[in-house]
Amino acid sequence: MTPVILGVVVGLITCEVALFTTSLYLHRALAHRAVRIHPAATFACRITTWMLTGIKPRQWVAVHRKHHAFTDEAGDPHSPVVNGFTKVLFGNALYYRAAARDPEVVARYAQDLTPDRLDRWLLDRGLVGLGLAFAVGVVLLGWQAALVAGAVSVSGYLLAGGAINAVGHRFGSRPYPNTATNSRVLGVLIAGEGLHNNHHGAPTSARFAHRRGEVDPCWWLISLLTRSGLAKVRLNGVHVRPVRSSTAARAS
Ligand SMILES: [Zn+2]
Ligand SMILES: [Zn+2]
Repeated sequence: MTPVILGVVVGLITCEVALFTTSLYLHRALAHRAVRIHPAATFACRITTWMLTGIKPRQWVAVHRKHHAFTDEAGDPHSPVVNGFTKVLFGNALYYRAAARDPEVVARYAQDLTPDRLDRWLLDRGLVGLGLAFAVGVVLLGWQAALVAGAVSVSGYLLAGGAINAVGHRFGSRPYPNTATNSRVLGVLIAGEGLHNNHHGAPTSARFAHRRGEVDPCWWLISLLTRSGLAKVRLNGVHVRPVRSSTAARAS
């Protein structure tokens, strides 16, 4: 296998690992408290988030909760309706960064997530995490394959985030009365996150697939963790009464 092919394969795998970790840990567990994860699995998620994304969880959570509070209206950090479809699809990371670096956003929307010693000493340094992942890649794969893997993984992750926030609020079906949309293709590719209309309809549900034919791969992971005693689901779609997500987020 050539270094380029090896790098593409490894990059796609690490990109999927990052997307599953984001959906499970940052989104469903931290932002919405839909699932509780065992401390050992939480530690693994923190390290994975640090090394594959460089994201600070409390910043991600704050930006995302603000998105639910002001969905597709002024105040939404990344809305295709407010900012434009193409800008959010390809520039989502810039919109994210602008909101994440606003201390008022973090203080207001993630006040329940205070940084601990591990965050202050290590995990808040995102570039160190990404650099460490690259160094591991160089040792295991060689520098050429590691470079390709890093480029594929990071660009795939950024595009996936842009796709959820842009496509997931523009194209697809709207079974629940909110502005987000369901895309089954994005659902399969992006850890179930493409079922975005379902998620805005029932934000505290740990399961994003609500009807026949919808696929939520992250829910399979959650089911596996639950059976292993590593996770506990608070609510799933069956028991959640759909609400307009922005109203619910403001009320909470
Ligand atoms: Zn949304
Ligand atoms: Zn959400």
